[in-house]
Amino acid sequence: MPIRILAPELVNQIAAGEVVERPASVVKELVENALDAGARRIIIEVEGGGAELVRVTDDGGGIAPEEMALAVASHATSKVSTSDDLAAIHTFGFRGEALASIASVSRFRMISCVRGADAGAEIEVDGGVLKGPRPAPARPGTVVEVRTLFYNVPARRKFLKSDSAETARVTDTLEAIALAHPQASFEMRSNGRRLLDLVATDEPAKRTLDILGAALAPELLEFEEHFPELGGLVVRGFAGKPGIARPSARAIRIHLNGRPIMDRVVLHAVREAYRGLLDSARTPTVALMLELDPREVDVNVHPAKSEVRFRSQQGIHSAVRKSIERVLRAANLVPAFVPDAFRTPSISSTDGRGAPFGSGLPAPQSGWSPQGLSHVDFSAFAALAQTTGSAGDRSVDSSAGAAPASYHDEFPFIQLLNGFLVTEDVDGIIIVDQHALHERAMFAMFLDRLDRGALESQRLLTPIVLERSTREVEILAEIEPLFTRLGIVARAFGPRAVAVECVPTLLHTRGVDGGAFVGDLLEKAVEHGSLLSLESALHEIVDMMSCKAAVKAGDSLTAVEIRALLRTRESIERSSSCPHGRPTSIRIARQELERRFGRS
Ligand code: ADP
Ligand code: MG
Repeated sequence: MPIRILAPELVNQIAAGEVVERPASVVKELVENALDAGARRIIIEVEGGGAELVRVTDDGGGIAPEEMALAVASHATSKVSTSDDLAAIHTFGFRGEALASIASVSRFRMISCVRGADAGAEIEVDGGVLKGPRPAPARPGTVVEVRTLFYNVPARRKFLKSDSAETARVTDTLEAIALAHPQASFEMRSNGRRLLDLVATDEPAKRTLDILGAALAPELLEFEEHFPELGGLVVRGFAGKPGIARPSARAIRIHLNGRPIMDRVVLHAVREAYRGLLDSARTPTVALMLELDPREVDVNVHPAKSEVRFRSQQGIHSAVRKSIERVLRAANLVPAFVPDAFRTPSISSTDGRGAPFGSGLPAPQSGWSPQGLSHVDFSAFAALAQTTGSAGDRSVDSSAGAAPASYHDEFPFIQLLNGFLVTEDVDGIIIVDQHALHERAMFAMFLDRLDRGALESQRLLTPIVLERSTREVEILAEIEPLFTRLGIVARAFGPRAVAVECVPTLLHTRGVDGGAFVGDLLEKAVEHGSLLSLESALHEIVDMMSCKAAVKAGDSLTAVEIRALLRTRESIERSSSCPHGRPTSIRIARQELERRFGRS
């Protein structure tokens, strides 16, 4: 075939492949256009999951009759005219290709009227043929109708899921957009049935609760932080307490300047903020709104604009993590034991602590402690008491809002059921899982030691030589800082082998196979492939060590030991859950008891 320039119609259909994947993407583009046009009231109607009909009606600024044809022409937009505009995008649209693409793969109709005009106009596009504009009634705003999507691209149409699945995607898409646009009302109907009815409000919090469910209000912590040094970054939103975490990754909703995004860096930062508060299989419920100078971010990375590129990835990551960490730290995260509304994270029966690096480690011997003492080492608590003060950031900030109720040394306690401590504080009765809490305490201690310098290192009499993949040998240099902190010295030994010369004393005294341990670390490093994740790798390693170090459920403790342990609920951060996110404590509120016993 000779080389030919593609017919414009074909170009649009090809472009549609990128922008329009399914009815939900049509809804997204049309609703974004409505918002760009300043609409305050948006009605979305779908039939047959949107494959038969998508109709979006708005009360926005409208399109003048003479511009109607241009609106559906490709690369025609009213939103960008110079490349400077492109560098500072504040509208959803800017590519000027959505309507052209949608119209090329559907039976398309648009009626619009500019506010104040005495007549509107209507156009139709069918099989690439434009009809109109012809006059239409003067009804301010725009109606866009998209019928039989992909009627001329059978391969695409076949690929659509069931009506209910497509409808669910439309609802998700709308909720995501509506979350960041409380000033507009959104009404959605599917086959005539109303599925969404979000009234306009000036309060972002109200919209968030309308979408997440008002019943969740007590479980959501609101935050807002400003970072003028990072392009005027504002980080705000709601962080759900661990109890309302969900199995689906969709529980985290991220918006940037009002646009829903799925950004790997931000997502990672959110998860980091919850590290140790949640079972790793669960996702925290978070609604995160980022506002940032548009010049600090490139949204023109992906046709659907769901991916972005920040100028300062590291800065954004740490701002998000810190903002959420702070609000979590200030809150009382001990789950209340209120039987009828009891929601704890579902705790899998398979032990979540299955050490990610630990496949090469022997089972723990009882009585081992990280300090090399012969029995459970409660002097670690004394060390903790000293270090948490200096660690600053890591101590519980009890001056903040709903800080955990204070625990006094005079409160009585008992040890029951082979491993549960029962005590009280000013708020009610606390039940503590001694292993979980001690594990959290050990975790804090290890982290603190790592903060203050490398772990103690033991030189091996003869180096252990490991045969590894070339990639693993290559990555050695990159992860050297991590190894140094852990007290590991390992060198390349030819292209396919590594010589391990020093291992952490803690593991050595424990009789752990240092070679297998280093091997596991290398494998993990290649898998993760970035330093960001190596920081989390460190946490995982510390996690594993703390579990081994902690007192077991069955260990009987002295009164002094129990007191020391209970005090750590306040002296260390995140004491409400063990490093794997299981709760360390459960509270029965005084109020709840009074209510149940008919005292109030
Ligand atoms: P983009 O949004 O990238 O500019 P579109 O193809 O989505 O490209 O829309 C093309 C143009 O049509 C927009 O720039 C805008 O001027 C106009 N337009 C589209 N939808 C609406 C609407 N609902 N209200 C007013 N103008 C609209
Ligand atoms: Mg658009």
